[in-house]
Formats: sequence, structure tokens, C-alpha cells
Amino acid sequence: MFKKILIANRGEIALRIIRACKELGIHTVAVYSEADRPSLHVRYADEAVCIGKSESSKSYLNIQAIVSAAEVTDAEAIHPGYGFFAENDHFADVCESCNIKFIGPAASSIRLMGNKSAAKDLCRKIQVPLVKGSEGTVKTIEEAKKIAEEVGYPILVKASAGGGGKGIREAHTPLALSNVFFTTKTEAEASFGNGDVYIEKLILEPRHIEFQIIADQNGNCVHLGERDCTIQRRHQKLIEESPSPVISSEQRRRMGSDAVKIAKEAGYVNAGTVEFLVDKDLNYYFMEMNTRIQVEHPVTEVITKMDLIKEQIRIAAGEKLSFRQEDIKINGHAFEARINAEDWENGFRPSPGMIHFCHLPGGRNVRMDSHIYSGYVIPPFYDSMIGKLITWGRDRKEAIRTMERALDELVIEGIKTTVPLTKRIFHDGNFISGAYSTSFMKEFMESSIQK
Ligand code: ADP
Ligand code: ADP
Ligand code: MG
Repeated sequence: MFKKILIANRGEIALRIIRACKELGIHTVAVYSEADRPSLHVRYADEAVCIGKSESSKSYLNIQAIVSAAEVTDAEAIHPGYGFFAENDHFADVCESCNIKFIGPAASSIRLMGNKSAAKDLCRKIQVPLVKGSEGTVKTIEEAKKIAEEVGYPILVKASAGGGGKGIREAHTPLALSNVFFTTKTEAEASFGNGDVYIEKLILEPRHIEFQIIADQNGNCVHLGERDCTIQRRHQKLIEESPSPVISSEQRRRMGSDAVKIAKEAGYVNAGTVEFLVDKDLNYYFMEMNTRIQVEHPVTEVITKMDLIKEQIRIAAGEKLSFRQEDIKINGHAFEARINAEDWENGFRPSPGMIHFCHLPGGRNVRMDSHIYSGYVIPPFYDSMIGKLITWGRDRKEAIRTMERALDELVIEGIKTTVPLTKRIFHDGNFISGAYSTSFMKEFMESSIQK
């Protein structure tokens, strides 16, 4: 096992990883930007190294500074968390060439599955159902129009290197497509350094259902059930749950075994997520694979009683999985609500600044993963997510009740947060019924404004 791990991240996920390391008896090294000097991850770690100025590009995205920090502190491995370098094959390559273990899949798997269009090619080969669309990337507008005509409008133009809900645009007519094709390409080039795009049919009223998989270096791979992430705003997840309210155990078995099939075909090692879209008739289609730990991993942990971060570390250290598919049991129901420092009544504008007072919820079946505290100043430089509230119940109804009472206990003063919006969602009849699609938030916001 490793003696010391460097955590190349900040915020709640850095704390989550430090906590897992402590429980495993592993020493931790935090890295931080100038703005994050007063952060909890700096205090919780055994050692901490400042890696640069506040902007991500000068700190958390500075490869040289991070690798040097690992070298001077003698860290044997780096955990990248999510975001930043988590899906950067070049970073994984650099770690390897410096003899530092990257806690995640091989650089080659990140390259293969991180390219959304290439990942679809792999699924096509092994006959996993795909959303209809282009085979590979689309180079010209003429080609784009031909494919759109074949699959039928409306369609989506998607950036091959996209992520975080960015680089996806709808077109309902050929005229709109001419516009969308070029803007998506230009934006993808600017945001992801790769202008490749592909086309997918727009699935109407879909649900987002993803499978957690975990694989060791000995070819063992299991899935840990699904997470339903249908509650989204602008293709970004807000609330996640497991199990999905619409999936039967037979469908779970089929989708889960396809997720494992994909991971095996990709030679995938460590934790990963296979994302599917599910249409009204419960047909499912592969969408993409995320080659990292995800924000919403706690819902899976709560219902499977596993610690995914510890498993990631054990696998990276060369240990075999200690369980088989038939050992995985799903217990009850879990929700996660992302808490963002945003002014949701004003276009979800980021709301950084000082938290004058903060009280985090507790009690039975409540987990709060967050780095905030009374007096903490949220810097304006990073993602606006400041925490995740996770609750468990024997069934969906009980998990909702627990979430409602936990949200009532949560107090964050001084900044705007999405807590009041989340409370309304958990009270909403359509939400409680479980019968909705990814357009839930759009409709919910429109009807909230009317009220
Ligand atoms: P999840 O882990 O559930 O997929 P997100 O999609 O919100 O969660 O992504 C996790 C984090 O990584 C977020 O901070 C998001 O902004 C960031 N992220 C993911 N992919 C990319 C990407 N390709 N480029 C930039 N940021 C990304
Ligand atoms: P990202 O890499 O940013 O996570 P995804 O390809 O996973 O991008 O898509 C993000 C979200 O956009 C999905 O969760 C889903 O809600 C929506 N989406 C993506 N593709 C389609 C599609 N073909 N039809 C309908 N919705 C889609
Ligand atoms: Mg996705």
C-alpha cells in the first residue's frame, strides 16, 4: 500500500480523499492556490504545498507545479479527484514517466473513452445500443446536414472533447444546424482545445441513468448499480438518486452487464461511470463514459456500503477486488443534492464571498460532504459547488423525508445558495412521483416564475 498520496484537487472532493487516506493510514499532501490558503483541505492534510496563483490555470492546472510538489514531498501516488486533471491523459502520462502512480485508469483508457465519439465507435463494435447519429466525427456542414436528414431532426451537435454539460447544442431545422455546427466547433476549439464535433439524434423526454463500474488490474470488473441523474439544468446535474425510480431489476442486470462489457473492451482499470440515456419506452442508449470518480459517487456508497475512494486507492496499489458481482447488494434508497453558491433567482449567477454563519445538518441517515465553515470566504475562481447533501431511507419516500428535514437544518448565511430551490424541488408533486424527464428543471423554473 502507498505510504503517502498527493491530492491534486480542492474543495469537498479533496476533503473526501484526505478522509479516506487517513482511515487507510496513508499520509496526505494537499496542494493549494493562493486563494485556497485558508481552506480546510490545507488544514486536514499532513502536509500542504502552495502551487501557484489563484486562477486554476496557474495552480490546479499547472502540471509542473503539482508533479514537483509530489517529488519534493515523496508522494508515491496522486489522486486527481474530479474536474481539473482527472480526465487528462497527458497528466496521467507525465505521472507515469515520473514514477508517480496516477490513481485512475491508464492514460490510454482516458484517451480512448474521454473522446466521446471514439467511445461510441467502441460501443458500436461490441453492439451496445447507441443514440442514432454520425459514425465518428463530422467534418463539414454538408456532411452534418446529410446525417441530420438521415436520423431526423431535432438533433444535437456535441463536442467530442466536451464535458461538464458544455459543448452541446440543439438544432431543429437545417437552417439552425448551419449556425449551431460552426458555433459548437468554434467553442469546442476554444474551451477544450479540440474542435471535433459529432451528431446525435435528440432523444425526447429522456432520463439520464448511469452505471458505476469498478475494475482491478487482474481483469475483474463489477457494476455497483445505477444512479438516476435526470434532474439537470443546462445538461448539468443537480440532484441524483439510486436506485432509479424507473428501472426494474431485469433492466438493471442488462444495462449493468453492458456497462461492464464496455469497461472490459476498453481494458479499463479503476472506478468509472457509463452514462446511458433512457427513453419513454425504457430503451437505453450509451451516451459516454466518465473515466474518473464522479461528484455523485456518495449515493452509490450509501446504498452499497462501499467506500469508492478507498477502492480506487487499493486498485491503484495493485490489490484485487475483494468482491464479486453477486456480493453487491443494494440497500434502500439514497439522494444527493448539490449545493451551489449561486443566485438561482437571477440566472444562477455565481455568489462568492464570505459565509458569515454556517450550520451543517446531521443525525441519522444524513451525510454532508462539504468544505465550508462559518467565516469561510468562497473564492470567485472555481466551480460554484460548495457541498453535497446525501440522505438515505429504507425507500424513496423515507429518503425524501430525510432530505427535507436535513435541508431545514442546513443554514448558510452571507451568500446566495441553491438550498431554497432544492427545498422546493423536494416538495414538488412531480418530483415526488418520480415520473419526469431531463426537462423537469426547465418546466419547474417556468412554473416557479409564474407563481
Ligand atoms: P459528474 O462527476 O457528475 O459528471 P460534472 O459533470 O458536474 O459531474 O463534472 C464534475 C466536475 O468536472 C465539474 O466541476 C465540471 O465542471 C468538471 N468537468 C467535467 N468535465 C469537464 C471538461 N471536459 N472540461 C472542463 N470541466 C469539466
Ligand atoms: P457531458 O460530457 O457534458 O456530461 P453528455 O454527453 O453526458 O455530456 O450529456 C450531458 C447531458 O445532456 C445528458 O445527461 C443529457 O441530459 C443531455 N443529452 C446528451 N445527449 C443527448 C441526446 N442525444 N438526447 C437528449 N439529451 C441528451
Ligand atoms: Mg455526461
